[in-house]
This record gives sequence, C-alpha cells and structure tokens, in this order.
Amino acid sequence: MTTTILGFGKRLGKAALDALLPPLCLSCQAVVDQPGAVCPSCWARLTFLGSPMCRRCGLPFPHDVGPAAECAACVADPPPWERARAVFAYDEASRSLVLGFKHSDRLHAAPAFGRWLARAGAELAGEADIVTPVPLHWLRLALRRYNQAALLAQALAATAGVTCIPDLLKRTRRTPSQGRLGRGERLKNVAGAFDIRPRHRGLIEGKRVLLVDDVLTTGATARSCTKALLAAGASAVDIVTLARVVRAE
Ligand SMILES: [Zn+2]
Ligand SMILES: [Zn+2]
Repeated sequence: MTTTILGFGKRLGKAALDALLPPLCLSCQAVVDQPGAVCPSCWARLTFLGSPMCRRCGLPFPHDVGPAAECAACVADPPPWERARAVFAYDEASRSLVLGFKHSDRLHAAPAFGRWLARAGAELAGEADIVTPVPLHWLRLALRRYNQAALLAQALAATAGVTCIPDLLKRTRRTPSQGRLGRGERLKNVAGAFDIRPRHRGLIEGKRVLLVDDVLTTGATARSCTKALLAAGASAVDIVTLARVVRAE
C-alpha cells in the first residue's frame, strides 16, 4: 500500500512537471497546442467508429441497413449485453494510445479519453444509472499500480455526470493473459471469473449498468462481466470501450 501511495505521489510530481512543459501528442509525443490532444497526423490515422453499425456490438457496417440491424456474429450468438460502443478501431494507429495508457504512466490522457468515451457512448451514458470498469485481479493491480479501465470509467462518469462505482465487480480468480488465446479459449478462460462485491450487491437491483474497458477484443471478458451483473439483478448492461477489434465479416 505504501509503495502504491509513493508511486502515486511520484506520478503527481511528474504531473506538476508536465504542466510546465509543452503538451505532447497522446500517441506520438509530438508537441501539440493543448494538453490531452492527439496531433493532426495521428488523429487522421485513427479510425473513429460510428453509424452505420451493429446495434448490439457496434461493429461498423459498410452500408446503412437501419438502426436495429445486427451483425451475423451477434445474430448467431447474441451477447448478453444490450449495446457495445467504442471510440475507435484497435489497429496499428490506435495501439500505442491504448498500450501507452495501460503499461506506461501516460495517465494524463484519462480526461481526454473520458470525453471521447462520453461522446462515443453518449446514448448509453445518458441512460446509465451506474458506470463501472472491468476489474483487474488484485495481484495484477498491485503490479501495475492502477487499473486503466477504472481510470477510464471515472473520467467518463465525471464527464457524463453518472455515478461511478470503481469496485462494483471483482475477479474471483486469476485468469491467464488472453493475448494469445482464440475466442473459444478466451470464453473458457474468463467464464465465471467475475462477481459483484458483496457490499455493493444491494445497489444494482433494477439498475442499468455501463461497463467500461480499454479494448473490446472477442468480447469474452465483457460477456462474463455482463452475466455477473445481470445475475445480481441489473436490468441491463451496456459496454463502452476506447478501442474495438474490427474484423471483416
Ligand atoms: Zn501524434
Ligand atoms: Zn454485432
């Protein structure tokens, strides 16, 4: 705990120093004119996601087929959540933004990411009663010192004016890193790996929950979290992420 506080203090010191230096692009570190911004060339390379898209999972469609349309994957195996939205595609251009936020201390990006999430998930945030992040296992949290999804959830909640409960969910066990696993293995890996913290159980009955994560890959983690929330009485679950893997159907 002490090291966590010291680490945080060190980062605060760094934040104070950063305030004296010219703001840098969140992606490539080029000088930009305001903090929390991406330079024009990085901005142009990002693939921002929007309509037309699958109503359920947010997969972009090449043509407008109506607001209720769902993609083949969602029709074949419907996710338990109601709607998932993402700011941009997870690709070569967005990877450094996402990984920089996850693994290096580029935490000053949180307010900007919160605004982007609030925009991409405006409809979802507008209807949500509670915003909550996908949790890290406590061991991984101790190693990394912060949960990037919790920072995103708090920044989004602050922008959208919704209650954030950062520790609503917990991991019931450690799950191996999913990096190299296929979809089936990921589903098995995280099945039943999440639960509601007992002290928050009474808070979610009948509530609409907006779950926040950094990347939606196969959706295995989001499915598992959604199931835990619905089993605890949430009326519906929506998902918003910074990035989303977009595969051609
Ligand atoms: Zn840049
Ligand atoms: Zn879909």
